[in-house]
Amino acid sequence: MRYRSTRSSTGVTVSSAEVIARGIAPDGGLYVPVDIPRLSEPALCELVNADYSQRAFEILRPFFDEFSAEALLASIESAYGSNRFPGQVVAPLTVLSQSEAILELWHGPTAAFKDMALQLLPHIMLEARRLAGIDRRILILVATSGDTGKAALEGFRDVPGIRVTVFYPSEGVSDIQRLQMVTQQGDNVNVFGVHGDFDDAQTGVKRVFGDVDFSKRLASAGWALSSANSINWGRLAPQIVYYISAYCDAVAGGAIEFGDKVNFVVPSGNFGNILAAYYAMRMGLPVNRLVCASNKNNVLADFFNTGTYDRRRTLHRTTSPAMDILVSSNLERLLFEVSDRDQSTVRQLMSDLQSTGHYSVGAALLSRLQSAFWGGWCDEPGVMQTIRDVWSDHRYVLDPHTAVGQAVYKQYLASTGDGTFTIVVSTASPFKFPDTVVRAIAGDSAVGATEGLETIAALERLTGVVAPKPISELGSLAVRHPETVDVSEIPRAVASTVDLA
Ligand SMILES: *Cc1c(COP(=O)(O)O)cnc(C)c1O
Repeated sequence: MRYRSTRSSTGVTVSSAEVIARGIAPDGGLYVPVDIPRLSEPALCELVNADYSQRAFEILRPFFDEFSAEALLASIESAYGSNRFPGQVVAPLTVLSQSEAILELWHGPTAAFKDMALQLLPHIMLEARRLAGIDRRILILVATSGDTGKAALEGFRDVPGIRVTVFYPSEGVSDIQRLQMVTQQGDNVNVFGVHGDFDDAQTGVKRVFGDVDFSKRLASAGWALSSANSINWGRLAPQIVYYISAYCDAVAGGAIEFGDKVNFVVPSGNFGNILAAYYAMRMGLPVNRLVCASNKNNVLADFFNTGTYDRRRTLHRTTSPAMDILVSSNLERLLFEVSDRDQSTVRQLMSDLQSTGHYSVGAALLSRLQSAFWGGWCDEPGVMQTIRDVWSDHRYVLDPHTAVGQAVYKQYLASTGDGTFTIVVSTASPFKFPDTVVRAIAGDSAVGATEGLETIAALERLTGVVAPKPISELGSLAVRHPETVDVSEIPRAVASTVDLA
């Protein structure tokens, strides 16, 4: 498969290996495949009785066709094997009612859906590097607001030829998220707290990426800088798999007949997860509607309802922090696809966003968007109410991000009456956000003075559900990365991780 940039008019294409190694296109656009592969009905039917790795192999093969079949399969098997996803469940579907199921994407090592892509990306990146003839070692730099940093550390840990260095805001992550990062094991990982908020950490890291002199010093020491953020196609492609896999599981379990359409509801932030659902639909998966769920930061919901994307608003801190985002980078790929791959439209809209903070798509484009997507959002009291309701109605525990999805699904039902079987995507284990979940189910007094690790035990007692092992064992792990730095010290910290003077 060849890939092109969403902003290019030159007809230049690059290989999947280059796409993975580069991340972002030189013109600032995002890479997309030149053709969207088709998944025929018989091919989909064959996947119904396959396991997750076989499904992943068949779905990903056309996207990475310069990779040898052996290398791709080996990568997939290491990523989704039972030592990473215990109990042979990778992305299980839990049926809640006749018309609704939950797709749990948090059975990986960090208990959030980012594992689905970040467990596979390192293997793909190594192979891409080999195919592209790059022999320098790779330094992956990450600024994280929580989930991405930990998933990248866990994914790249002990991968030969790669080092990963993560900066998190020392005042901006939950207790559990911080513990997950500072106890990280592996010989090729570094973690630093940054005094400040996520923007401070991100600004500091971006400065390192933009420092030409620093890149030269790195290069002469045999290193190349890279990033693992969600605009890399290598993070998007693995996410297509679980939508198709969920459909197969719904057929295999008798919830739907083969060929029936389904809806997916996706708690969204940077728009990477739901975009993968859109690509699955374009490949031929029978999908009726994609419901895009936002929290109080409702810029995407407004966009799907009005056609205007407007980032000029204050960012609210919510109980679903992974969705506290004002600029959803992956939306650029959707604009490209729904405009029939018109790079001049994409360039115009992205330049409007850059210069004025907003853009509007015309009526024709809006109506195309609305035929595939429905957008809604949920405020903080709604999140708490939804966690409580789903627990009392179904004895099922939702994390706050998934609760946003569930609440928006209820709005969608009320507004459309659509009875299509619907799969709500669950993006994190409730045990990653135990304070909020305990408070929602049992009231503020149940949390009391406890926080972090103690609330994990409280949530277990309250629900009878056992916390995932990587979360419950956090208290017994040694802190290996206690260091915190000022924003101005980030370059020095990066240099120290690769032994640059
Ligand atoms: C990253 C994340 C999201 C948002 O996903 P996008 O792909 O950025 O839209 C939602 N929930 C959780 C728990 C996440 O970690």
